[in-house]
Amino acid sequence: MALEPVAGPQKGRTLVRNAGLMLSGDVDRPLLEADALVIQDGIIAALGRGHELIAHGPFDMVIDAHGCAVAPGLIDSHVHPVFGDWTPRQNQIGWVESFLHGGVTTMVSAGEVHLPGRPKDIVGLKALAITAQRAFFNARPAGVKVIAGAPVLEKGMVEADFAELAAAGVTLLGEVGLGSVKAGYEAREMIGWARKHGIQSTIHTGGPSVPGSGYIDKDTVLEADADIIGHINGGHTSLSEAHVCELCERSSRAIEIVHNGNERVAVAAVQAARDLGVLGRVILGTDSPAGSGVQPLGILRLISLLAGFGRIPAAQAIALATGNTARIRNLDGGLLEVGRAADLVFLDRAQHSAGRDMLHSIELGDIPGVGMVMIDGAVRCGRSRNTPPAERVPELLAH
Ligand SMILES: [Zn+2]
Repeated sequence: MALEPVAGPQKGRTLVRNAGLMLSGDVDRPLLEADALVIQDGIIAALGRGHELIAHGPFDMVIDAHGCAVAPGLIDSHVHPVFGDWTPRQNQIGWVESFLHGGVTTMVSAGEVHLPGRPKDIVGLKALAITAQRAFFNARPAGVKVIAGAPVLEKGMVEADFAELAAAGVTLLGEVGLGSVKAGYEAREMIGWARKHGIQSTIHTGGPSVPGSGYIDKDTVLEADADIIGHINGGHTSLSEAHVCELCERSSRAIEIVHNGNERVAVAAVQAARDLGVLGRVILGTDSPAGSGVQPLGILRLISLLAGFGRIPAAQAIALATGNTARIRNLDGGLLEVGRAADLVFLDRAQHSAGRDMLHSIELGDIPGVGMVMIDGAVRCGRSRNTPPAERVPELLAH
C-alpha cells in the first residue's frame, strides 16, 4: 500500500544562482566550490557555477540568491510532536510552522509522549506509534517533514512487537527511559530487538525532565547501547561534565546535543567530540515542545552557542544540524549533494551584526537571518517572520 504525502515535491526544473556561499552539510568539507544548483522534481540534480548550470535550462523557476548563503534545511533531531501542528505541552498551535521560519525542514520524533492519556499498554502504544507515523506522513505541517511514530518502551514487550512495528512502517523508538523500561539490561535487550528489525533507538540521558519521568546515568546509557545518546547535555538536568565526556569517549553512538538542556555541558560535549576527532557523531535537537516551551529558532540558537562559546567553526556547526543528522538518521535531505532532496535554507548575516560576514556573525554568537526555505524544491516561506532580518534575501524571478 503506497501512501502519497500531501505536501509533495515541486514538479519541474528550478535554478538557484548567485549564492554567496554554499554550505554542504558535510562536517569534513563544509564549504562547496559552487554558487548555483539545479533542482529537478524536488531533487538536487546538479551543483556548480551558475554560468555552467544555465545549460541545464529551460527552467520553470529561477531563484536569485542575491549573495545569500545556501545551506541544507536544518534538521531537529529531537522533538515531541503529538498530532498535526498542535502541541498540548504548552497548548500551542502552529509550532511546526514557526520552526520552518527558523530554517527547520525536517524533525525527528523522540516520542509522542505529550498525548493526553497516552496509552501505556502494549497494544495501545503500538497503535499510537503506527497512527502517529501515518498521520505525519500523510499531512506535513507547513510542509515540514516530521518523522514520527516513536513508541516508548514499556515492560512486557517481546521481539514480535518490534517486528510488528517495523512491518507497519515504524522506524524509531521514543526516548528509552520515558516508559517503565529503565534498567540497562532490560533496555539493551529491547534495543537489540529494535535494531534487528531496522528500528533506530534513542535513550534519555540525565535527570528527569518533568515530575514522573526518570533518571538515566552514564552506566545505564553505556549498557543499553542505544543508537543515539539522546540529549547528552540533559533535558534539562545534565550528568556531570566528566560523565558526559566519558560517554563521548567510551560509546561509539551518536552524540545528541539539545537546546532545552544544560548549555554549559552542551559546550563541553561538543568540545570533547572535537578533541576526540568525532564531530561527525554530533547531532542537534531542541527537545521541544517541553517545559521550557517551544523554540522556533532553537536549532539556530544552538548552532550559535556551539560556534560562539564552543569555538566550532560556524560552517561545521551548521553541518552538525544538517548532514550529520541526515547520515545518522538515514534522511533524504541534509546535504547539498546530487540525488538528495532539495530541502534548502537561504541565510544571510542579520542586519547590524558585528560579524564580518554570515559565518563570522555566528561565531560571534549572533544568529543569522533566514530569507527563504524550500522543502523538496517547493518554496515554503520567504523572509522569516521569526529571525532577525537578513541583510539580503533571495528573489523568485520566474515561475
Ligand atoms: Zn528526555
